[in-house]
Amino acid sequence: MNIVELHHVDKHYLGVEALQNLDLTLEQGSILGLFGHNGAGKTTTIKLILGLIKPTAGQVRVFGEDPTGDNAYHLRRQLGFLQENVSFYQQMTGKEVLTYFAKLKGCDKKQTTDLLEQVGLAHAAMRRVKTYSKGMRQRLGLAQALLGKPKLLLLDEPTVGLDPIATQDFYASIAQLKAQGSTIILCSHVLAGVEKSIDRALILGQGKLLAEGTLSSLIEQTELPVTFQLRGSNIVLPADLQLLSKQTPEGIELQVSQQQKMATLQQLMTLANVDNLDISMPSLEDIYTHTMSGIQHQEHN
Ligand code: ATP
Repeated sequence: MNIVELHHVDKHYLGVEALQNLDLTLEQGSILGLFGHNGAGKTTTIKLILGLIKPTAGQVRVFGEDPTGDNAYHLRRQLGFLQENVSFYQQMTGKEVLTYFAKLKGCDKKQTTDLLEQVGLAHAAMRRVKTYSKGMRQRLGLAQALLGKPKLLLLDEPTVGLDPIATQDFYASIAQLKAQGSTIILCSHVLAGVEKSIDRALILGQGKLLAEGTLSSLIEQTELPVTFQLRGSNIVLPADLQLLSKQTPEGIELQVSQQQKMATLQQLMTLANVDNLDISMPSLEDIYTHTMSGIQHQEHN
């Protein structure tokens, strides 16, 4: 069974088509990255899955059920949600905050000790939240989302404001949760570094699905080139490759299509004077920029 299914979902607010004909399926144990510009419809998608709003048209199913239906209360107990810009009562300790949310969620407060340990906050459990760094607050937010061992986790901009190490730690926690069988939806504007942590990406633009798939299928769909970077003195490229190359401060840069990748590599391996050769595949950021340039272009037409 798919954990989340959206079929032909529209969501209209007064005068705003926040989502149009959105399809989405999410298998158990997978991590989906949900991306898009401001106002693209990411939060609306999350709210639909949480059952906080109903679709104008189409069908939303979470664990096979309508998240706004009669069983919504029980369904929500299987969900964990970390909202954007999470904030807690500053005067309470981390432990008190988590115990408070455990009560609200109706789960055993004994979990709080283990959860604080899991997110690396055991040492600060008795400190007031006002003394926490942004990264520590975010980890407390994650612990809150993990209360009750949710089968589906929705994380809205979980790494905003985190430094690179805190971000890496955060993604390490996500990988651990996935290994334990959790299904995760991660919304983010920060694309750098996310690709290693997600199984699939879905890119929304103006309420519509623009692209969806694994990184490799998105690379195929977008047909973005592979970049070769060559370093060395007096490298003489064959004439066909010279046309595709340019000189950069780092050396010679060569861009070829995915289909030409292996043949080009074989050609480059035979060249004299090459001291170093780097190959870069398109990143999620490249795919996102390419996909978004498509909608900006459409808008102007
Ligand atoms: P951001 O990255 O800025 O958080 P988002 O992708 O999460 O954006 P949404 O919050 O889902 O975008 O909003 C999608 C569209 O729906 C926007 O145009 C927004 O203004 C509109 N919208 C969202 N909620 C409402 C509402 N309650 N009433 C009217 N319009 C709304």
